[in-house]
Amino acid sequence: MIQRADIIVIGGGIAGMSAAAELARDAQVILLEAEAQPGYHSTGRSAAIFIRNYGNATLKALNALSFPALSGDLLGESVLSPRGELLLAQPDELETLEHYVEDAKGVDRLTPDEAQALVPVLRKEMIAGALIERDAQDIDVDRLLQGNARLFRDRGGQVLTGQRVTGLARAGGVWRIETVKDAFEALVIVNAAGAWADRIATLAGVRQVGLQPMRRSAVLMALPADIRGHKAWPLFGSVAENWYAKPDNAGLMISPADEDPVDPQDAWPDDMVLAEGLYRFEQMVDVPIVRPSHSWAGLRSFVADRTPVVGFAPEAEGFFWLAGQGGYGVQTSPALAAITRDLCCHAGAATDPALARALSPARLV
Ligand SMILES: Cc1cc2nc3c(=O)[nH]c(=O)nc-3n(C[C@H](O)[C@H](O)[C@H](O)COP(=O)(O)OP(=O)(O)OC[C@H]3O[C@@H](n4cnc5c(N)ncnc54)[C@H](O)[C@@H]3O)c2cc1C
Repeated sequence: MIQRADIIVIGGGIAGMSAAAELARDAQVILLEAEAQPGYHSTGRSAAIFIRNYGNATLKALNALSFPALSGDLLGESVLSPRGELLLAQPDELETLEHYVEDAKGVDRLTPDEAQALVPVLRKEMIAGALIERDAQDIDVDRLLQGNARLFRDRGGQVLTGQRVTGLARAGGVWRIETVKDAFEALVIVNAAGAWADRIATLAGVRQVGLQPMRRSAVLMALPADIRGHKAWPLFGSVAENWYAKPDNAGLMISPADEDPVDPQDAWPDDMVLAEGLYRFEQMVDVPIVRPSHSWAGLRSFVADRTPVVGFAPEAEGFFWLAGQGGYGVQTSPALAAITRDLCCHAGAATDPALARALSPARLV
């Protein structure tokens, strides 16, 4: 039996789930997820931080648009909690620090002493410059994903897991979608397949947008018992983004901030990349490096201009892109979901035309 909907969303990460919840206000929507549970890939592996100044001008606009939703407007309770972000520069990174300050809002410069007062394990003789973004916040990603799933279901949407899409064809003004189990039809498909979004385009005979998945890894490392109060430290890292560390209940999550191009896959960290990243971290702190208790990797997928791709494919009726969120997909999800709904259901009436152009797949042709 063929199941029918107005819109089928492919991908149950934060992008697909939040867009599905928004679209279900206006349309009958089914979400198809390949894995047994939503959020298994990039969404479940993020550093879970909201940084207002992270990314290019388009990303900053999306960050600002998303903030009220994350703060409570979306779910009736905030998924954010105070963290702060401390960026550090060694002498050869001072120029990068200056560029960051030029484009940033709400950041304060700190002396090495002030930086060390915030994170006492820092070696202040290694710090040539520092700045703090105090309103960077932790995001409860699970609550955000589950909250969107609840909204989606309450609005009549269906989440179907274990439904890897294997075939897409358009005939008679509708998309026919084959999965490993079932067949579906819809007027519109939303391609929110994360690192696999270009593969979905190929299945549909749509031109790819040049999406490149980049692996990013992390470890969890315990801190010595005599180090106290670490849970109140800000996230801290290099302004050149070649390592960062974020307090976690058990100690620190440390990332080499790697960006290695890979094929779409269930990502796994490379031991050498982790070792090099831990070495860069070790240069800046006075903490013994111990064997990590856990390590993982996820994919951050970018197109050439490192800006998300959101909008209808110019050459394929009813094929909507929601991809290329890179390292910003959790924090920008409310804005991108609202834009997806507006472009799909209201012809873009509420979206700033300049923002729609900056996100449009047409820019990549
Ligand atoms: C280490 C790391 C740290 C990060 N830190 C942050 C951060 O602090 N803040 C932030 O905002 N972002 C961060 N990100 C980025 C963020 O995680 C991503 O931008 C976001 O999760 C992308 O969401 P998505 O839904 O597009 O992708 P995904 O979560 O990967 O979801 C895509 C889904 O599509 C499904 N799929 C693929 N192919 C098919 C198919 N054929 N049929 C059906 N389903 C299919 C997949 O199974 C998957 O569940 C980080 C990423 C990493 C890896």
